Amino acid sequence: MTRPLQPQPGSIGQGPARAGAAPANKGAARTAARAAARAALAAHPPPGTRHQVHECVGCGQRQIVPTLDPGMRARCVRCGTTLRRRASGGLDRPLALYFASLVLFAVVWLGMLMRVSTAGIVHDTTLISGPLELVHQGLWPLALAVGFTSALAPLAKFLGMIYVLGALRLGVRAPAMAPVFLFARKMSIWAMMEVLLLGVFVAFTKLGDLVTMQVGPAVYALGLLTVVALWADVALDREAVWQGIERLGATWGEVPEEDPPGLDPDAIACEGCGLLSVPHEEHGQCPRCGSHLHVRKPNSLGRTWAFVIAGAILYIPANYYPVLTVVQSGAGAPSTILGGVEELVDSRMYPLALLVFFASILVPIFKLIGLAIMLMATMLVTTEARASFLLRQRTVLYFIVAWIGRWSMVDIFMESLLGALVQFGAIATIQPGIGAVAFCAVVLLTILAAEFFDPRLMWDAAGRNGARFLPEPRQPGPAVQGPVSLRSVR
Ligand SMILES: [Zn+2]
Ligand SMILES: [Zn+2]
Repeated sequence: MTRPLQPQPGSIGQGPARAGAAPANKGAARTAARAAARAALAAHPPPGTRHQVHECVGCGQRQIVPTLDPGMRARCVRCGTTLRRRASGGLDRPLALYFASLVLFAVVWLGMLMRVSTAGIVHDTTLISGPLELVHQGLWPLALAVGFTSALAPLAKFLGMIYVLGALRLGVRAPAMAPVFLFARKMSIWAMMEVLLLGVFVAFTKLGDLVTMQVGPAVYALGLLTVVALWADVALDREAVWQGIERLGATWGEVPEEDPPGLDPDAIACEGCGLLSVPHEEHGQCPRCGSHLHVRKPNSLGRTWAFVIAGAILYIPANYYPVLTVVQSGAGAPSTILGGVEELVDSRMYPLALLVFFASILVPIFKLIGLAIMLMATMLVTTEARASFLLRQRTVLYFIVAWIGRWSMVDIFMESLLGALVQFGAIATIQPGIGAVAFCAVVLLTILAAEFFDPRLMWDAAGRNGARFLPEPRQPGPAVQGPVSLRSVR
C-alpha cells in the first residue's frame, strides 16, 4: 500500500518575523482583510504560490511543501537541503536585475580594463585581450575555457533569463520558453563573473611592483556586475517561472492540473524543473520542460568515477609543469602553482598567498577526495547500517564540493590577465605555461564530476528510500516489486 504523504510542519523554514500584538478591533479587521486576500489568491494564485509535492535533490525524500509566503524557505525534514525558496518581489525584480547585468556585462567587455606602463611604454587592455593573447601563444584550450566561463556562459545566461522573464512579463507565449529557461539555468554553473573579479584582484596585486597601472572603468563595472548578478539569482523564483510558463501554455506537453502525480509511487522528479510526473513510457519526457526523466541521474557512479580519476591524473602535470613564466629585464624562470605561492610568501603578500594556496591546491584535492569518499561509501559499503554513517554530513559535503569548485578558476583567470597585461618585450613579459592547461582541465573535470554525482544514491544505499532504490545484490530472495515507501525516516 502506498502511504499518502503528510504535510511536514517541521520542514518549513521560518518566515519573516511577525509584528507585535495589535489592538483587538484593528486585529480583527486585519484578519478579515487577510482572509479576503487569501480567498482572492485561492481563486487566481500568482505563479509560484501553489503547494506541491517536492522530491529532495539531496536525499530523495518526498514532501508536501505548502504555499509559502514571500521570502520563506522550505527545507527537507531529513537532510536540510532547501526544497523550495519563494523570492519576494515577483518576477519583475529579477528581470530588471538581469537587464542591468547585461548592460554592465557590455561595459566589462568593451570598456578599458587597465592602463599599464613601464619604461615609457603604455598599454591599454580590455578583458578580451586575455583570451586573445592566449590564442596568440598557442594556448587555445585555455583561451576557450576562459572565454566560455567569463564571456559566453554569462552572456547566454543573461539573454536567456531576459527572454523568458520578459515574455512572462508581457504575457506573451514566446517560442521555446521552457528549453531556453533550462539552458539559462545550466549556464549558471559555468558563468563565473565573481571568480573573474577575484582573479582580476589577484592579478593587480601581483602586478604591483612590476609595472605602473591605472584601473579602468571595466573593473568597476565588473565589481558592480558581480553584486547585481548575484542579487538577480537570489531574486529569481524558479518555481514561479515554471508555473508562469505553465500558465502561458508554453510547456513541452500537457502538465497535470494538481498534485496527485507527486503522490504516485511511480512518479519521477524531473532533473530540469523539479516537477514530479508519471512517465508514460520508459525514459519518457517531463511534461513541463521536456527533459528526459530518470529515477536517478543516469550512470551517475560510473561517470563520476571517470571524471574524478581523470581529474586526479591531470592534477600531477598541473603541479609539475610551470603555470607562469615571468621574465623581467631578461631574467626570470618558469614557476609552478606551488612556486607561485612561495613567491607570494617571499614578497610578504600573505593573505594573497593563502588565497592562491587555498583555491589552487587545497580546493582541487578537497573535491577529489570528497567525491571519492562519497563514491566509495555508496558503492563499497555492504551493510545498510554502515551506509548510514554520517549520511546527512555527506549530503552537506556534496553541496559544498559542488559549490566550491568554481573558485579554483581564480588562478586561470589571473594567468590569462597577467599574460595579456605584461607584454613589454625585453623589459618584462609574463607567459602562461602548459601546467595551466592541465590545471584548468582538473577544475573543469571536477566541476563535471560533481554535476554527475547524485547524492540521493547515498540515501538509497542506506535503504532510506524504500526497496525500489536498493541495488540488486542487496535484496535477498526474489526482487521486491512494489510501491516505494515514502515514510519519513528520522
Ligand atoms: Zn533531503
Ligand atoms: Zn521538467
